[in-house]
Amino acid sequence: MAKMRAMVVRKKGGRLETEERDMPEPGREEMRIRVQACGVCHSDLVTVEGLFPNVEYPRVPGHEVIGVVDAIGAGVQGWSVGARAGVGWFGGSCGYCRRCRRDTAFACENVNAVTGLTSDGGYATHMIAHVSAVAHVPDELDAVESAPLLCAGVTTFNALRHTGAGPGDLVAVHGVGGLGHLGIQFAARQGFRTVAVNRGRDKEELAKKLGASDYIDSAVEDPAKALTAMGGAKAILATVTDGQAMQAIAEGLGPNGVMMAIGAVGPLTLNSMDLLLKSAAVRGWYSGTARDSEDTLQFSKLNRVASMNEVYPFVKAQEAYERMLSGKARFRVVLRMDG
Ligand SMILES: [Zn+2]
Ligand SMILES: [Zn+2]
Repeated sequence: MAKMRAMVVRKKGGRLETEERDMPEPGREEMRIRVQACGVCHSDLVTVEGLFPNVEYPRVPGHEVIGVVDAIGAGVQGWSVGARAGVGWFGGSCGYCRRCRRDTAFACENVNAVTGLTSDGGYATHMIAHVSAVAHVPDELDAVESAPLLCAGVTTFNALRHTGAGPGDLVAVHGVGGLGHLGIQFAARQGFRTVAVNRGRDKEELAKKLGASDYIDSAVEDPAKALTAMGGAKAILATVTDGQAMQAIAEGLGPNGVMMAIGAVGPLTLNSMDLLLKSAAVRGWYSGTARDSEDTLQFSKLNRVASMNEVYPFVKAQEAYERMLSGKARFRVVLRMDG
């Protein structure tokens, strides 16, 4: 029987270890994908450390996947073997339940799946995905370069386009890291006056190269005051992983401004008076559906948005994972399957 290889977590908190497995066959409404590249996302911690209830082990993490369709199960339409395919955090939806019919397919009542968490993900040569979870990938996009667009990319792209900001509006991207370096590119190319906010000056040049027109050093300047002096932000994309930093910028919103929290930082203390006087809002956002991923990929192709990655051969997944956890990677970490 044909074999595949995967980097597997055998128990909660375990290391990523190589495992040879029988090649799985796609079931009904499923496809098998030959993985070319998979990003290493901070949320893979949820799988490795068992931070969701009932994570089953062994488990293969990975939800920033680009590859090609390798085998097609019964009941799948619109796909052919060899087609380029991308899979993100979203594990699929049924299309007919109440949530799916209300355009909130994320919360599908029938398919409760998260790639690399409730099913095996992309730290592998092959994986199985529900057809509704798979995004078409444009030919022009390189698999290794673009894999992070399936999570970090769709999250920032989607959050920004749901803030209500329009061309020319002041939009702050808080944090110039794995999410923020993509957020700046998307914000600038969506036509916003893009302000990068980060501690220190060492990322200023890069932020401007990526499209930021202004830069606020939050170590020496109160970012809320600085944004207010610029007229107040229509949107703040809060990618930082520090709650105090996130709440410190919220008052930089302008009238009807929206802060999108996409970094998970736990409880936030917010000034309700400031929010109500401005009719401002703080919202959370994560990821998107396969359709959202396709929008992200198309936009990235047209506007040349690219993730900056450190690339590891897939057998070095443990090393790559530790590098991602260190927070020192510039900026995303990606596994390539052929190396
Ligand atoms: Zn992710
Ligand atoms: Zn559904």
